[in-house]
Amino acid sequence: MISTRRIAIIGSGFSGLCLAIQLKKSGIDSFTIFEQAQHLGGTWRDNHYPGAACDVPSFAYSFSFEAETAWTHKWAPHDEILRYMERCAEKYDLYPHIRFSSPVASACFDETTGQWLLRTTRGEESIADILVSGCGQLNRPVIPDIAGLERFQGKQFHSARWDHSYDLSGKTVGVVGTAASAIQFVPEVAKQVDKLHVFQRSPNWMFPRFDRAYSEAEKRRFQHHPWLARLYRWGLWGRLDLGWPVFRGNRLLGQRLEKLAEKHMRSTIEDPVLADKLVPDYPIGGKRLLISDGYYATLNRDNVALDTNGIQRVTEAGVVTGDGREIALDALIFATGFATTDFLVPLEIEGREHHRLHEDWKDGAEAYLGLTVSGYPNFFMLYGPNTNLGHNSIIFMIECQALYILGCIRRLCDRNLRYLDVRPEAQAKFNHRLQKKLRRTVWAVPNRSWYKQADGRITNNWSGPTIRYWWQTRKPDFSAYVEVTRPNRNTTDGFEPP
Ligand code: NAP
Repeated sequence: MISTRRIAIIGSGFSGLCLAIQLKKSGIDSFTIFEQAQHLGGTWRDNHYPGAACDVPSFAYSFSFEAETAWTHKWAPHDEILRYMERCAEKYDLYPHIRFSSPVASACFDETTGQWLLRTTRGEESIADILVSGCGQLNRPVIPDIAGLERFQGKQFHSARWDHSYDLSGKTVGVVGTAASAIQFVPEVAKQVDKLHVFQRSPNWMFPRFDRAYSEAEKRRFQHHPWLARLYRWGLWGRLDLGWPVFRGNRLLGQRLEKLAEKHMRSTIEDPVLADKLVPDYPIGGKRLLISDGYYATLNRDNVALDTNGIQRVTEAGVVTGDGREIALDALIFATGFATTDFLVPLEIEGREHHRLHEDWKDGAEAYLGLTVSGYPNFFMLYGPNTNLGHNSIIFMIECQALYILGCIRRLCDRNLRYLDVRPEAQAKFNHRLQKKLRRTVWAVPNRSWYKQADGRITNNWSGPTIRYWWQTRKPDFSAYVEVTRPNRNTTDGFEPP
């Protein structure tokens, strides 16, 4: 398909790259990727803390159409994943399409032309016929507002902004947070520092990762028999998807897994008092299920202390815990997660009739299939609201979304449409059903998690197995959309530049 429609993609993480590759594969070259940073990679560019690795097996956490057979480990470390993304960008000649250091500040839709006017924070303007966000859900680190933090004289940084120039050796370090990011770097940091204080607000369910290196023979087999690599990949994906009932709220299964996880924890943690502090009070899967081969063992170390009294305040020299003890620290590392429910912030998006996306989303972000929002024509999101997973690879979801968007672009071209706008009733019906299902999942139980807003509404997660998402997105249902044609039916495609 040849298209001269101009497509603007925001972000060059897995989402942006996936769509760009699919466009290239379809013969579409008329796209630009606006990237705020100087390098591609999204979350894998930003999260380079020690021990960073994927917590989904790499054969499943990579593009189905771009198999990598040389993963060194079942769960590839950060560098390998970033190199994989760079290799994909090179192979499909995406670099000439990427405008680095170009954070998009705003996008405004012009109904008469059916075009988006984009402005970057540097004041540059661009016109696009189709706008796609590939910003993801985990791109804005949050440091909690703890009393006195501004007075702290030591070093402080967030795990997603790791300062490798700061030498941790011999230091007394505090880590706030004990979820997916923290459990990956705590074992590495513990080896370097003199003393490590881990401040835990809530414990999480965790299983061993059972990581292992692939042997040279295995790698050769995968390389010489690509069908074997594909079979392995889809086997992993299928097995992960079979885990969905736990998240849907099957307590029989959940309790069995909780017993196994607790048994594993108690068999590793030497001090029974410490072990008691590591038993979560929410059903398994309610927050991100963690996997680690080294976190519990690290808590046994003499130079590591787990503190569960909470942080009352921060002083110039350290932190005062909930029980009034002052702990002197050289550095404070925040593994406190991301602003996940404020989708697309700080981007200002103005749709039809001057509607503003953040105003429309003031009670919570929502979209049709996580992809489109009524009133914002020709605007698509990758990894948008309610498309995150707790049990499988997000790359699968992104691939479904990229193909869906491609289907919409085909429709725009084939029917010479000015724009496609999802009907409000289709969006409302979809979200009514989605929220009903989500209320029955384990995610509804914990008081807080990054999957939901303070009012309890789950804005981040998909409500079923990934196979159901594939089924619903495999072919766009255009009856859910208002289709507005262009005035001149003679032109087959593309707009003249204004
Ligand atoms: P997170 O899951 O949001 O966890 C934040 C941690 O900080 C929690 O332990 C939380 O405690 C704690 N916290 C937050 N505010 C606090 C405060 N004011 N005082 C004390 N503790 C506080 O963030 P994350 O660990 O960065 O992980 C986010 C997501 O990124 C993961 O769920 C995962 O999807 C993704 N991730 C993926 C990988 C990978 O391998 N692919 C690796 C890392 C992260 P509470 O539980 O009590 O709120």
